[in-house]
Amino acid sequence: MDDLMKQGLEYHVLIPTHSSHFNCCYFCGCIATEYDFSPPKKYLAFYLATKEAADFLQVPCCYECLEHLKACKAGSLEERRDFAKKKLAKKYQKALTIYEMWTTEELAGLDFSLRHSIAAGLQLGEETTNRITFPGFTFEAAGFEQKVSYQPPQYFAVFGEQFTTFRDALDFASKAYRIPKITLKEYFADHQNSFEKAINAIHKETADKEFQKQLKTLCGQFAKQHKQAVIFVHKQVDRYLSENEDMTIAEALTQLYETRVKPSLSR
Ligand SMILES: [Zn+2]
Repeated sequence: MDDLMKQGLEYHVLIPTHSSHFNCCYFCGCIATEYDFSPPKKYLAFYLATKEAADFLQVPCCYECLEHLKACKAGSLEERRDFAKKKLAKKYQKALTIYEMWTTEELAGLDFSLRHSIAAGLQLGEETTNRITFPGFTFEAAGFEQKVSYQPPQYFAVFGEQFTTFRDALDFASKAYRIPKITLKEYFADHQNSFEKAINAIHKETADKEFQKQLKTLCGQFAKQHKQAVIFVHKQVDRYLSENEDMTIAEALTQLYETRVKPSLSR
């Protein structure tokens, strides 16, 4: 008699409620040929001794998920599912990036070998995305029906437009706001996973850069025209602008001329 039975416990086979999910990996939706045990049989003694949360489920699972889950000690179905999905995302990270960054229409402009490898990445990336977002299914175990609790993120918003995948949102935002996908993705990650915050930050940076460029040009022109040191002009204009938010560069230069340059000419 094994340890589990001694305690009146046993693993219950997770059985899909709907026949369409028979032979389906609970974690990723691929064809199930194996079973994962939640908690792993290897750590059964630990779970029985500590009474840590464990589901005691025998879960239909594909070969690849089973391989990944060999490194997972978690006892609950939910934790094991998250672990398997994270491993999938890590393994296929390259393809996922291609899938996020490219669309099929963009392939036409590429040379043969690049087109070939991007197309392969797109396909693998799409498959992986489907596996990672696979929501599981309603099942029965030990005679009780369990509803699935896993829900992939509902949508990604881009200024009022809603998308069900990050990829579609990125594609839309990149085109609508004329920002390269790679830049947008980085800013998205750095700005609380918000497209709106990312786009605003990019626009602000662009505007700041444009302003600095203009400031440099106009101060340079002014310094040359009135035979002033560029550093002096720049410093004064910066001061005027910081004192008055609504002032334009041209207005600041006029003020500089009126208050500092002109008086010294008449002396
Ligand atoms: Zn799987």
